[in-house]
This record gives sequence, C-alpha cells and structure tokens, in this order.
Amino acid sequence: MSKKKNSIDEVNEARKLLRESGLRSTPARISVINALKRSTKPQTHAELADQLVPLGFDKATVFRNLTDLTEAELVLRTELGDHVWRFELRDPSHDRSSHPHFVCTDCGTVSCIDEMALPSPSLRRSLNISRISEVLVKGHCGTCDSARAAST
Ligand SMILES: [Zn+2]
Ligand SMILES: [Zn+2]
Repeated sequence: MSKKKNSIDEVNEARKLLRESGLRSTPARISVINALKRSTKPQTHAELADQLVPLGFDKATVFRNLTDLTEAELVLRTELGDHVWRFELRDPSHDRSSHPHFVCTDCGTVSCIDEMALPSPSLRRSLNISRISEVLVKGHCGTCDSARAAST
C-alpha cells in the first residue's frame, strides 16, 4: 500500500500548519500530522507508532512530537477513562463547544450530535454554569458492539 508515503502536497500542507503554529518542520512532525490526517478516528500512540516506526521513527520520537503538536494546539488529545490518550488533528472550523459529541470508548470514534440541545442561557444561569467547554456522551459504537457480539 502506498498510503504511508507522504505526497508533496501533504508535506507542503503540513509544513504550512507547522509554520503557522511557530513550530519547526521536521520529518517526524510532518509524518505524524499526515498519519493523523489520514485516520478516520482518533489514534492512540501505539496505533501511530505502528504506522510510523516502519518509516524509521522510533516510538519515543513519535510520542515527543505528539506532545509538541498538542502543546501547539495543532493536535487534540482526549482520554476516555481508560487512561489511553487518543490524538486527532484539530479542525479549526469545528467548534466543539457548540454541540454535544458521542464518543465510542472502545475505538475513540467521535460523532457530532446535532439534535441534542445544550442548556439554555436561563438554565445555565440557574445552574451557575459560566462556560461549557465540551459535552461528551460516552458509549459503544455499532462497529465495536457487533465485533464484540461476533467474538463471544
Ligand atoms: Zn467503536
Ligand atoms: Zn462536532
């Protein structure tokens, strides 16, 4: 499969992201960004290492660069209660505080829930809520649940 190879366009886009965040472009950072960009769901450090170690990066390098990218707010890091960090590229056009999200605690897939209302301003006042940063609904996605049913 050729999916692991960085195309020129992908490299240039990653460089631009890094430059805008004031980070130096390194092959490791570019490869981490592109691996996350190609992922359909948030990736654990182990999953990223599986993709990047064959390209010549060691696990410590992958982790250090994930941390740098997270601190620069290019990457979003979430933990679902299983003490495993999952990483995804931050999408600046996606306002996470404007609607609730469903997250599968097995695979980390996140879906936007557009039809669940957040507390109204008056309810927020009565509950002494000043700001809501995120609303997460946790559970198991259909894919993980059917995989579990098939394995038992
Ligand atoms: Zn799942
Ligand atoms: Zn959303």
